Amino acid sequence: AKSEERNAFRFYSPIMQADARKRLQLASELRQALANDEFRLVFQPSLELRTGRIVAVEALLRWQHPKRGLVMPDSFIPMAESLGLIRRIDEWVLRAACAWIRQWDREHIAPIRVAVNVSASWFGHPAFIEGLHTALRDYQVDPKRLLLEITESAILRLGEGTHRTMYALHTMGVGVAIDDFGTGYSSLAYLKLPAVVCLKIDRTFITGIPRSPDDVAIVEAILAMSRSLKLYAIAEGIEDEAQHEFLLRAGCEEGQGYLYARPLEVPDLLRMLKSGG
Ligand code: C2E
Ligand code: CA
Ligand code: CA
Ligand code: CA
Repeated sequence: AKSEERNAFRFYSPIMQADARKRLQLASELRQALANDEFRLVFQPSLELRTGRIVAVEALLRWQHPKRGLVMPDSFIPMAESLGLIRRIDEWVLRAACAWIRQWDREHIAPIRVAVNVSASWFGHPAFIEGLHTALRDYQVDPKRLLLEITESAILRLGEGTHRTMYALHTMGVGVAIDDFGTGYSSLAYLKLPAVVCLKIDRTFITGIPRSPDDVAIVEAILAMSRSLKLYAIAEGIEDEAQHEFLLRAGCEEGQGYLYARPLEVPDLLRMLKSGG
C-alpha cells in the first residue's frame, strides 16, 4: 500500500477547475464514489514525543477510483468544495471514523484519539452539530476520543456562527485542533474559543528546523504561545531525526510525520499499535 500511495495518480489537476464539462463529470463521479463505497480512510499515527507512544491517529481520505486507481485528497477535495459536495464527503469521513473507533473498542485496541478533518463549509453549516451528534450516538463514541481539525484559513472564512458552534462542541466535550497553524495570516483571537485545545504546526515550518533561524524562531514562538494558552501542540511533517530532537527539546507534545509512519491502512496501523510502536 505504501508504494501505491507514492505512485498515486494526481489526475485532477487544478486546470480542470476551468473546464465546465470535466467539472460536471467529476461531480457525478464523486456522487458515485459516495454511493458505491469508493472512499476509504487511512490513518497516520501521532506520537507523544517524550515517550514515543502512539496517542492518536489522523484519519485521511483516499478514493479508490474504479478506473483511475488511487486518487489523493489534494486532487479532489478542493474541487469537491467548489462543487458543493464536501459536506457529504466530510460527513461520510466522520461516520467512517466513528465506526472504526467503535470496532477498535470492541477488539480492545488501545483507546487512542482519532482526528478528523472538517472543511469550512460543513463546520459552518447549521446542520453540522446535529450531524456530529448523530454520528457519536449511532456508533456510541465518547466525544473525548474525537479531535476535529479545522484549518486556520477555514476559521477565518467563517463568521458569526463559529462562536456558537465552538460553544456547542465545548459543551459536547469534542475538542478542536487548529490545522496548518501559522499559514492563515489571521488574528489570534479564535485561540481563546472554548473548544480549541490543540495547535497543529504546519509542515512548512517544520521542514526548515533546525537549519533555518526563522523557522526555529516561529516554531519556538508557537510553542510558547501554545503553552501559555494551555493548548497542546502537534508538529506535522516530521521527516528526520534532527527535527524530532529539536521539537522534543523545545517541548512540543506530539509529532506526526514520515519519520514515524506514513498514513497506514488499518491492518498496518493495528500491527504497529500491537507492537507497541
Ligand atoms: P492535512 O490535513 O494537513 O494532512 C496532512 C497531509 O500531510 C497528509 O496528506 C499526509 O499524508 C501528509 N504528511 C504526513 N506526514 C508527512 C511528512 O512527513 N512529509 C510530507 N511531505 N507529508 C506528510 P494527504 O493525506 O495527501 O492529505 C492532504 C490534505 O487533504 C490534508 O492535509 C487535508 O487538508 C485534506 N484531507 C485529507 N483527508 C481529508 C478529509 O477527510 N476531509 C477533508 N475535508 N480534507 C481532507
Ligand atoms: Ca489535518
Ligand atoms: Ca495540516
Ligand atoms: Ca495541509
